[in-house]
Amino acid sequence: MKNTTGYVSDSLYLKHSLGIGHPESPERLKAIESEMKQSGLNTKVVPLAFEIEDPRVWAAIKCVHSEEHIASVTGSGTAGKTAFRAVKGVLQAVDDIYTQKIDNVFCAVRPPGHHSHNNGAHFDGRSQGEGFCFYNNAAIAARYAQKRYTFSRILLVDWDYHHGNGTEWAFYGDPEVFFFSTHILWGYPGTGFPEKKGEGAGTGYNLNIPLPDGAGDSDIISAWTDAFLPALKKVNFSPDLVIISAGFDSREEDPLGTFRITDDGYARLTRMAMDIADKHCEGRVLSVLEGGYNPEGLAKAVVSHVSVLLGGS
Ligand SMILES: [Zn+2]
Repeated sequence: MKNTTGYVSDSLYLKHSLGIGHPESPERLKAIESEMKQSGLNTKVVPLAFEIEDPRVWAAIKCVHSEEHIASVTGSGTAGKTAFRAVKGVLQAVDDIYTQKIDNVFCAVRPPGHHSHNNGAHFDGRSQGEGFCFYNNAAIAARYAQKRYTFSRILLVDWDYHHGNGTEWAFYGDPEVFFFSTHILWGYPGTGFPEKKGEGAGTGYNLNIPLPDGAGDSDIISAWTDAFLPALKKVNFSPDLVIISAGFDSREEDPLGTFRITDDGYARLTRMAMDIADKHCEGRVLSVLEGGYNPEGLAKAVVSHVSVLLGGS
């Protein structure tokens, strides 16, 4: 079956720089653009036009982040403007999924978001565990989808090498958002233990499966089939929208990671996420780029991921 797959990109995403030699660099997106062209996928995806108005984007950001956090990001020049633009792109994707302009979408955004919470301000030495993130794009998209539309239950899966501590924080007590993360055990940011299952009414709706150094396709796929799918079933979770925090630093040959997920592995994970979406919510999948620091490898993994979103195998 062929899908209409949206694609979010913007020239501003290429301008934000954390300094020469920093792994979270514009080269990442340049490599993706180039591989999308090389593979011909750039002519198959639908580029999204940014129509959503800024006040709506700000309102959504405020659903997740504190005034203090927002002030710290907006005070950081181009980084702050780019971070806003990343959220804007992701929320446009929610709009276009809701209006059925697209079936699913990949958002090639920078900066990433899944470590963002409100536990410190940027650039003043107080930031704790926020990595290269500013606003939590995926978490904001989930809250926006709930508040603006009839998407009340959101499934958020995070296959980045690092634990999505910001996303866990945002929904830890919330039974309407199921958060599932695979990540390195004992790595940055030092969170993501399996005993963290959520709290109060949200107990059972947060699932952390840390994996050891060297984890490959069969390890991550087993985490899905043996732990994640049964956990979803246990709480009878039927999502209205599936959001992927698509980090590709879990790929083989990543300079910041020690996993060995292959491009075929990402294709299989994508297919499994789509199977859940097909079963529960007419295939609605919103995928947001998180990490991935070997530009060429990242680009190949993204092409594999987007091919499956388009309906390939
Ligand atoms: Zn990461």
